[in-house]
Amino acid sequence: MTERWVFGFEDLSDAEEIVDGWDGVRSLLGGKGANLALMSRMGVPVPPGFTVTTRACLDYLRDEAMPDGLWDEVVEAVRRLEKESGQTFGGGDDPLLVSVRSGARISMPGMMDTVLNVGLSDAAVERLAHHTGDPRFAFDSYRRLVQMFGTVVLGVRDEPFEDVLTQRRADKGVDSDAELTVEDLREIVSDFKAIVARWSGTTFPDDPFEQLRMAVEAVFASWNTPRAIAYRSASGIADDLGTAVNIVKMVYGNLGADSATGVAMSRNAATGAPGLEGDYLVNAQGEDVVAGTRPTLPLDQLATDMPEVYGELVEIAGRLEKHHRDIQDMEFTVERGKLWLLQTRNAKRTARAAVRSAVEMVDEGLIEPTEALMRVAPDHVEAFLHPQLAPSPDGSRTPFATGLNVSPGAAVGRAALDADLAARWAADGEKVVLVRPETKPDDVHGMLAAQGILTARGGRTSHAALVARQFGRPAVVGAHALEVDLGAREIRAGDTVVAEGDWLTIDGTTGEVHLGALELMVPDLADEWLRRLLEWADEHRRLGVRANADTPVDAERARAYGAEGIGLCRTEHMFFDPARLPIVQRMIVTESDRERSDAISALLPHQRRDFAGLFRVMDGLPVIIRLIDPPLHEFLPGAVELTRRVHDIHVRLTTAADMDTLEELADELEEARFMLRRVHELGEANPMLGLRGVRLGLLMPELVRMQVRAIFESALAVAGEGVEVHPKIMIPLVADAEELRRMRTMLEEVAHDVLEMADVEIDYAFGTMIEIPRAALTAAEIAQTADFFSFGTNDLTQMTFGISRDDAEGGFLMRYVEEGVLAESPFHSLDEGGVGRLIDIAVRDARELKPDLEVGICGEHGGDPASIGRFDRLGLDYVSCSPFQVPVARLAAAQSALEDP
Ligand code: PEP
Ligand code: MG
Repeated sequence: MTERWVFGFEDLSDAEEIVDGWDGVRSLLGGKGANLALMSRMGVPVPPGFTVTTRACLDYLRDEAMPDGLWDEVVEAVRRLEKESGQTFGGGDDPLLVSVRSGARISMPGMMDTVLNVGLSDAAVERLAHHTGDPRFAFDSYRRLVQMFGTVVLGVRDEPFEDVLTQRRADKGVDSDAELTVEDLREIVSDFKAIVARWSGTTFPDDPFEQLRMAVEAVFASWNTPRAIAYRSASGIADDLGTAVNIVKMVYGNLGADSATGVAMSRNAATGAPGLEGDYLVNAQGEDVVAGTRPTLPLDQLATDMPEVYGELVEIAGRLEKHHRDIQDMEFTVERGKLWLLQTRNAKRTARAAVRSAVEMVDEGLIEPTEALMRVAPDHVEAFLHPQLAPSPDGSRTPFATGLNVSPGAAVGRAALDADLAARWAADGEKVVLVRPETKPDDVHGMLAAQGILTARGGRTSHAALVARQFGRPAVVGAHALEVDLGAREIRAGDTVVAEGDWLTIDGTTGEVHLGALELMVPDLADEWLRRLLEWADEHRRLGVRANADTPVDAERARAYGAEGIGLCRTEHMFFDPARLPIVQRMIVTESDRERSDAISALLPHQRRDFAGLFRVMDGLPVIIRLIDPPLHEFLPGAVELTRRVHDIHVRLTTAADMDTLEELADELEEARFMLRRVHELGEANPMLGLRGVRLGLLMPELVRMQVRAIFESALAVAGEGVEVHPKIMIPLVADAEELRRMRTMLEEVAHDVLEMADVEIDYAFGTMIEIPRAALTAAEIAQTADFFSFGTNDLTQMTFGISRDDAEGGFLMRYVEEGVLAESPFHSLDEGGVGRLIDIAVRDARELKPDLEVGICGEHGGDPASIGRFDRLGLDYVSCSPFQVPVARLAAAQSALEDP
């Protein structure tokens, strides 16, 4: 059987016969085509039309020619449209005109092409004028066709067309195209045709079928424009889907005051609040709304202007939402009082709206909690933790401009007035806010590179708003008071002038724009809907979620975000406190045992306080404290700095005025020289593979003994306050079981020593990190001495790949990723084939010996949603991640459990 390329909107059942399910229909007809057919079946008013399949597009792109039979089917479908409407395509008294629109399986807003009013010609426009009694409308439609055909199909730039319009408005002293006369438009059409001829070398075709054929081919080809390819690569959409083409009878929103066009969301796509929401324009065509070139009206107003139409729209939105069980984003047109739906799709939404609508749809009985959990992306949860503006000290702050708050969160950056510059500055490590009159699909790379986006024009459904929401960039659009002067490279609002490169702060949550770089803060997890969603997540997940936290403040945040304990406290972070660092340095460099032991004793009370704070916050929950791990040089000044210090003291010595100063400087010099010598002596060629972790503890036992003493003394003290403490001591960087055996024996003595006299029982454990490949491979032996394991996937990745983790992000690894040698950084997302395999071996071998051995992970991968699924499948008990990632991990863990029960 030969392939069928064209399906009328009434032919949904035929399509269903040849593909599998709704997904199959969407793949074949694209999202827009499938939904148009579905709406037609549901009795929603949809203008008649048909869809050319994505397969036709793929064949066209492969062969650079329409597949056999396609054109005949298109012509036949047009004939059916003619019959149904009683009109003639591009002819007769009332010419049939069509729109030609792209529609891929996954929506890519504004990325591909559309041509409207196909079928108009010099002859047809006169008839249309006569039939509608509205010559202005007819010629306006015609000039739009020539312009779109010129740009989309023939590849002429938009500027010459826009120049003609601007010039004409200026000549006539009017502000908008709507004020131009029929005569103006006639002349504009002829100017436009001249532009087409001049810039494309082809004349605008008069034959409607010729127009249609060229438009269909242009839509096919638009699948592979650079901007569509860039969008797909940023959104992870496959390149081999192709686009369908929808050919739909034109209906007009620009036939006078009883006509309109707009977009409607079945719920608020920024907040998720129930109720229809959107924008529309009276007497306009669809692209006017999306382009944001005229200020739109809020949809509520339609309830007053056209109550019946509004009522019908509400009813349809409800039905579509119920059917799709998701927020719908609809395009509609009202032609002389009659409502037509031109498209519906699942709406792009902010994180807040994703969460709220999912939870409320559960309350409404539309979906189950498990579906709500699967529907919210872990990234969306992360967006809840977007920075917000810190409150201003005096409680007031006057924005420099305001616009629509279309994508939440605050952003600070230097104003960049074009996308290329924004991308360049961002690549140089600058924070930028992209400021544009409005954005177009060509700006996406700059939008992605920017911290936030600000436009002077556009509505909630403008390109800028959609893209910003989708990629989680804070955005303010339609700040009408702003004048973005691309010539002078500055932005003006009244008397205030902001030069390109000046700092701006935008608040996508409120729509305010401020001068300068304001302070940002991270918000609370106070959102009621998120709290409920995460409670459902907790009911479904297998994996525990703990936090990597070193201070009581971090621990408090972690607990508020739902952490079930501390999975890693890096004790060395406590040593960097300015009050302690000199003591730590003395401890490291001294050659006197006495001095070392004094320094260590001086650290004891500090550490006791540190641990007590953590135990109090984590009342009732485990706290894993890792003994000192990093190479000691990390605590010391660098050799270069010390050499400079020695030199400086020399210089000061030569100019010293009195004996006292001389003596002081001589002491300083001696100290600096001593330090320099010790830094050289302690230096290692590969410190990350050197004296660190358990090795340090074995060779400098007083230090870890002090740490363990501090842990148990503070545990006892806090337990005495009635707090339930569960200290767990973790020994890092073990490569051989013997290291752990010796270390544990030594530290247990300290524990016994402290606990002997106590009258409370402390529940404690000794465990180890598995972060060296050898430890993973000898896990069975190591497990004999360990009460728990925690995989340090940062070091384990470093040592499995033999790639320095400290240099990875700035070094060749990024080139590797760019050039596709590695699909992604193994430091970001767990490498299943190597590191994952080592974890698997270690878990299996260790659990064979100790089936109940607690096994977790505390490397950075613990906060990465994809890696969390892998850890779940590897049978780990918990992940530990930064406090901010705890909510993300809770959701990702639930999704993993639901996907793989
Ligand atoms: C690790 O190596 O994964 C780990 C958690 O320890 P650190 O990052 O402190 O080396
Ligand atoms: Mg480590």
